[in-house]
Amino acid sequence: MIFAHSEGNAPAPELDGPLVDTFGRVHDNLRISVTDRCNIRCFYCMPEEGVQFQPRQEILSFEEIARFVRVAAEMGITKLRLTGGEPLVRKDLPELVTMLSAIPGIRDIALTTNAVLLKGLARPLREAGLHRLNVHLDTLDPAKFERITRRDDFAKVIQGIDAAQAEGFPLKLNAVAVKGLVEDDIAPLARFGRDRGIEVRYIEFMPLDAQGIWDRNGVLSATEMIGILEREVGPLEEVPDRDPRAPATEYRFVDGMGRVGFIASVTRPFCLNCNRIRLTADGHLRYCLFAIEETNVKALLRSSCTDTQIAQVLHETVRRKWIGHEINSNRFVPPPRPMYAIGG
Ligand code: SAM
Ligand code: SF4
Repeated sequence: MIFAHSEGNAPAPELDGPLVDTFGRVHDNLRISVTDRCNIRCFYCMPEEGVQFQPRQEILSFEEIARFVRVAAEMGITKLRLTGGEPLVRKDLPELVTMLSAIPGIRDIALTTNAVLLKGLARPLREAGLHRLNVHLDTLDPAKFERITRRDDFAKVIQGIDAAQAEGFPLKLNAVAVKGLVEDDIAPLARFGRDRGIEVRYIEFMPLDAQGIWDRNGVLSATEMIGILEREVGPLEEVPDRDPRAPATEYRFVDGMGRVGFIASVTRPFCLNCNRIRLTADGHLRYCLFAIEETNVKALLRSSCTDTQIAQVLHETVRRKWIGHEINSNRFVPPPRPMYAIGG
C-alpha cells in the first residue's frame, strides 16, 4: 500500500486508490515503450533517412520501468503492453518481461511488434511470461511491403508469425489502412486471418507520422473497409457484448469463420471509454496518444524520489486527462512526438 507522507496531525491522503480521471474513467492499462528505435521505416510512421533517436542514456532502464510498474500496479494497473519503436530491437527484452510478470497485480502482458525479429524471440518471450502478441502487417504482397516499410523483410515477418503460432501465442494482426494504397490488401489479410485463426485489426491512418504527410483524404475508413470485406469475403455482423473499453470495434463473419476489428480513431473515436496511459521510452507519462502535454517521470525516477511521489505523478497525470482528442475539430494540434517516439 502506498500512502502520502502526513503533514502534522492531518490524516495522510491515500494515494493508492484507483486511477480515475475527472470523467470517471478508470485506468487499468499501461502501454510502455521500450525503445524509439526501429529496424524498418514505415512511411506513415518514420522518415526514410536521418531519424533522430534518443541517446541511450535517456532511455529508461529495465529497473526503472519495473519500479514504475510496481507503483502503477498498486494503483490498479493490471494490463501492460510493450511497444516502441520496435520493442524487439531492445536488447534482452525477455528479461524485462520476466521482471514485469513477477509484479503482483499484473495479469496480462502483451507486445506489439513488426515481427522482423520474432522468429528467434518467440520462445524466450513465451518462457518469460508474455501472454499475447499483436503483429503489424499491412499487406501480403512482398513488393508492397517493401514500398511501405522501405525494407525487404516480408519473409521474416511471416516466419515470425509462424514461430509465434507454434509457441501458442494468441495473435492479432495490425494493418494500417491508408487510402489509395491498401484497398487491395484488405480482403487477402482477412482471408489469411481466417485461415490461421488470427483476428485482423485494421487501423485508420492517424496524424502521427513524423513528416506531417497525414491528410484526411488518406484515411480509409472503417465503413469503407467493411464494404470491401463484405463484397470480397462475406457478410459481417457486429460482435455483441464486446468489452466497451477495447479500442477496436469487432465484427465476425456470419459464416462463423473468424473476426476482424477496426481501430477507427478518426471516424469512430472511442475516447469515452479510454482506460489507457502511456510511458514513453525516455520516461515521459502521457494520458493520451494525442496528448500535447506529458510528465517527466524519468527525472523523478532518477532523483531519490519515494514511491509516494511516483504515485502522486500518476494520479495528477490521470486527473489532467482530457475528454478526448480533437482530430475531427479545427482545434486539433498534432502531438509534438510522432508515433514511434510515443509508443503506439
Ligand atoms: N513497431 C511496432 C509495430 O509496428 O507494431 C510497435 C510500434 S508501432 C508505432 C505501433 C502501431 O502503430 C503499429 O502496429 C502500426 O500499425 C501503428 N501505426 C504507426 N503509425 C501509424 C499511423 N500514422 N496511423 C495509424 N497507425 C499507425
Ligand atoms: Fe517501426 Fe512500427 Fe513505426 Fe513501422 S510502425 S516504422 S515498424 S515503429
